Amino acid sequence: MSHLYDVIIIGGGPAGYSAALYSARAGLDTLVIEKFSIGGQMTLTDVIDNYPGFEEGIDGISLGFKMQQGAERYGAKTEFDEILEVSLDGKIKSVKGAAHEYKSKAVIIATGANPRELGIDGEQELVGKGVHYCAHCDGRFYKDKVVAVVGGGNSAAEDAIYLSRLAKKVYLIHRRNELRATKIYHEPLKKAENIEFIWNATVKELVADNRLNGIKVENLISSEVKNIDCDGLFVSIGRKPASELFKGKLKLDDYGYIIADESTKTNIDGVFVAGDVRTKTLRQVVTAVSDGATAAHFAEGYINNY
Ligand SMILES: Cc1cc2nc3c(=O)[nH]c(=O)nc-3n(C[C@H](O)[C@H](O)[C@H](O)COP(=O)(O)OP(=O)(O)OC[C@H]3O[C@@H](n4cnc5c(N)ncnc54)[C@H](O)[C@@H]3O)c2cc1C
Repeated sequence: MSHLYDVIIIGGGPAGYSAALYSARAGLDTLVIEKFSIGGQMTLTDVIDNYPGFEEGIDGISLGFKMQQGAERYGAKTEFDEILEVSLDGKIKSVKGAAHEYKSKAVIIATGANPRELGIDGEQELVGKGVHYCAHCDGRFYKDKVVAVVGGGNSAAEDAIYLSRLAKKVYLIHRRNELRATKIYHEPLKKAENIEFIWNATVKELVADNRLNGIKVENLISSEVKNIDCDGLFVSIGRKPASELFKGKLKLDDYGYIIADESTKTNIDGVFVAGDVRTKTLRQVVTAVSDGATAAHFAEGYINNY
């Protein structure tokens, strides 16, 4: 049989590495499996300035690596693999990745969240060809070009401000007549002379040849449709939980979040859930790491009685 870990953690974001730190530090044989990049969503932002302990803030990539190193100091291991299938019911849990199958006594799910899509024709085909979900990752392709950002929350505000420093012009399209973003973003948005707000509107159509060259935007009050020429569209309309793998296996709420209270225990013994993929009120780094610690604590208790 393949190696039997005490704890497998799916996801190498803040929840995953906090769980790994607590689990490895408790002497448990701990593996983190990450499909893409250490740090999870934190890698999408230039600065995290509300995580305690960094008086000048810290960029998300560095914070992710620090969390990984902190956990590895106590012996946690990392594998890069995408988990595609899970078998969680038995005493021995098995998670199957694109490269290998892994087995453990307990599993901590820390798969976080992914960007929400607009869901309009051609969107999938144009990803990377003018349609993007991460301004901090892909904004650099739009130096002195025209871009549009869709959304009205903190991420959209942050994306528009970031892109206004690179692009010639930024349209910020929101379906309401005011932003949901917190006040801290309002002043820099107003100050940026190259940001134009398009209120009460949604993107109805993507205009493209083999890449995006414009969008059609519908005013939700007048129904008027307006063409906007642009080179890039950044979709920033929120996140959806990365819980597809667990549908039909674990209890999810109506939005797809894995149901668990502060104990992080799911409906299956030995399976815990931490971070953004869990039902909770506030999805931030600080709450993700808090969940990770709690999940490792209960996983340790579960393994002690195994
Ligand atoms: C642009 C942006 C800015 C933000 N700014 C802040 C901020 O300033 N302050 C703050 O506190 N929070 C901020 N957040 C929110 C914060 O980043 C998240 O709340 C936090 O990262 C959630 O941590 P997590 O570990 O639960 O999930 P994630 O960070 O989403 O990590 C999940 C990890 O799991 C991996 N994964 C998923 N599925 C699989 C699979 N099947 N197999 C293997 N690996 C898998 C993913 O690749 C990812 O690395 C921001 C988020 C975004 C998008």
